[in-house]
Amino acid sequence: MKFYGDIRECPFRCVSYLIIEGTLIFKKLFFSDNPMDRQENCRGTQAPDFALFLLLLVFLAGCGQKSMFIPINSFPDVVAVKVQPGDTLPSLAENYLHDSSLDWLIAEFNEVTEAGAGEELLVPLGFYKKGNLTMTGYGMVPVLNYHNLDLTQSSKMMIPREKFEEQMAYLRDNGYRVISLDSFFDFLDFNRQLPSKSVVITFDDGWRQVYDIAWPVLKKYGYKATLFVYTDLIVGSSKTLNWDMVREMAAGGLDIQCHTKTHRNLNKKKTDESPEEYLASVNYEVAESARIIKREVGVDVKYLAYPYGETNDQVIRVLQNNGFRGAFTTKRGSNPFFADYYRIKRAMIFGGFSLEKFKKNLKTHN
Ligand SMILES: [Zn+2]
Repeated sequence: MKFYGDIRECPFRCVSYLIIEGTLIFKKLFFSDNPMDRQENCRGTQAPDFALFLLLLVFLAGCGQKSMFIPINSFPDVVAVKVQPGDTLPSLAENYLHDSSLDWLIAEFNEVTEAGAGEELLVPLGFYKKGNLTMTGYGMVPVLNYHNLDLTQSSKMMIPREKFEEQMAYLRDNGYRVISLDSFFDFLDFNRQLPSKSVVITFDDGWRQVYDIAWPVLKKYGYKATLFVYTDLIVGSSKTLNWDMVREMAAGGLDIQCHTKTHRNLNKKKTDESPEEYLASVNYEVAESARIIKREVGVDVKYLAYPYGETNDQVIRVLQNNGFRGAFTTKRGSNPFFADYYRIKRAMIFGGFSLEKFKKNLKTHN
């Protein structure tokens, strides 16, 4: 379910409000330490509140749901809760933010790793740190870039399976959260906060081993990832993907995006091309590959990875004219919220990387 950056935009706000208010009224009427509250109840001066509460009960009975969450107090931007047995950070996030995957927001706000029964926690009702700004600097997002894998072999572009799995396990064991491209670009829009240790995983081209080796590992860890395909490569040879494989991975959650049609270097005009022919070719590479991906996979692409990682202002204008939200280079480095949407940096991970070298590409704060 969608999480609203500002609780005031949230259509569920009134429901959350009713639940919180109703519970508080109930507590006040029947369990208050203040005898005045109970006397007022006897005199009926709380009748409108009580009527509201009865309405709430009818509403909840209609929903067939019973909330086990007991807020201590609520404020416009935050709810104070006492953790009940059985509560977890994801269940609190689901209840108050309508998205269990925002458990990290509660964890980071309270500097805890889990919700212990009896503990008092504050649940922020919106992003309190857009752009991941901190008192001492700003957050950065590393975008990892892989090309091909192999069961055992290692080369510059070929990662042995064992090494890939070791890197994915390192991310999990060290508190990294793998995020989607859309979340990353919402962060660049200064519209959302990301987990303080966020990372994006991308693959380029469309090699067969992405399906045979990487995909099972990604599924095992529950990681999101993006595959930038150049559509001429998707022919289903022994080394390359076919569209059935791409469709299967897309149905399983892999994000399919654009890497041109023929993998031409968009940054370089060929010597026998006129400026007009060059621009027409760039436009064809972008628009035609987007059209093929739409036809084969049914998705509207929004992002492109530049073949050879290179770009220029003309290419960027073509992308903008075709409605692309952003594009990726292979310039090494992490990205702050004020990064150039069409020159996003990525760290290429090579087969020869030790774990120590891999870690150097995971900078998340400046
Ligand atoms: Zn490529």
